[in-house]
Amino acid sequence: MRQSLRLGSISGIPVGINWGLLLIAAFYTFNLAVGVLPSAVPDASALGYWIFAAMNVVVFFGSVLAHELGHSVVAQRNGIRVKEITLWLLGGVAQLEKEADDPGVEFRIAVAGPAVSVALAVGFAGLAFALGPAYGGGLLTFSLGYLAVVNGALAIFNMIPAAPLDGGRVLASLLWWRSNDRHRSRATAARVGEVFGTGLLIVGVIGFFMGAGTFVLAILGFFLRTAAGAERRRAEAFEVIQSAVVATAMSPIVAPIAPGVTAAGVQALSGGYERPVAFPLWGADGVIGLIPSSSIDAIPLAQRAFVDADALVVPWSQFMSASVHESLTAIVQRAHASGKPHVLVYDDQGAQVGYIGLDRDLSTLG
Ligand SMILES: [Zn+2]
Repeated sequence: MRQSLRLGSISGIPVGINWGLLLIAAFYTFNLAVGVLPSAVPDASALGYWIFAAMNVVVFFGSVLAHELGHSVVAQRNGIRVKEITLWLLGGVAQLEKEADDPGVEFRIAVAGPAVSVALAVGFAGLAFALGPAYGGGLLTFSLGYLAVVNGALAIFNMIPAAPLDGGRVLASLLWWRSNDRHRSRATAARVGEVFGTGLLIVGVIGFFMGAGTFVLAILGFFLRTAAGAERRRAEAFEVIQSAVVATAMSPIVAPIAPGVTAAGVQALSGGYERPVAFPLWGADGVIGLIPSSSIDAIPLAQRAFVDADALVVPWSQFMSASVHESLTAIVQRAHASGKPHVLVYDDQGAQVGYIGLDRDLSTLG
């Protein structure tokens, strides 16, 4: 049996519902028809309670669908195809074909869902106020107010900055925008998600044993914690791959050399290394810059014994700095923007560990 039931498709996006949702919908309708509505509007008929309960549930799931469509429409406008929208126990999921490759796009996709929920909340509240005088205190007014509140709650809950909630994606996109480091930003938002999910799980379980109806919070917390953990591990794996790539592309910074050495001397020293390296060069006031071993290639063989190493040094003022965690693509983009093709790579401890000369080293990467 398929996991989800296909409802149809909206603007080319297939929409399905999870079987479990039908059970929840039935329970939710019962709860509204027998509990919430009769206590809020005491003088209506039993049939009226059931009709409005069913309508509220259908409109609520329609609102969840509209929220997911908000994400989907913005994703598709940015060239990201949406494979399917599925409504399930704890809300909806829009499955995107790929991830955004720009923090601005990620931000807009994440914000679009809660924005739709806020618009719906405002719309339902407006209708409740407009119809209030005519149908004062009736099932219709109450239901509109109720839908305004649940849509507002949906927007607020989803904007909690804990991945995989929308607010977590917003947080990740802002961190990514500031740090230029997509995977590290996602890992951070996922870590917040794990903490939040764990907290919700604990509160839900304690509340349950104290007799409060918080079991659903515990389930939600468990799901969030599990999903956030998976996201964190994935982001961390990408971080490792990415830093490995930067580590491969850079020329490691090795022992400094003293002034007065010739290009031939630098060449002789670099012969001791298996790959291109960068030598810090001592000047009168400490290290004045780096000599990439690859820069010797530009000097004709016969002249190397006569060219001073000073002529090869790239002074500190010409460097752009980068972290080993930054992606090569991000480094290239920043280097183009800053007009500095020489990149000094720092590790987590703030030590200078490598040199990337963009015109040379990156072209060999393919
Ligand atoms: Zn959302």
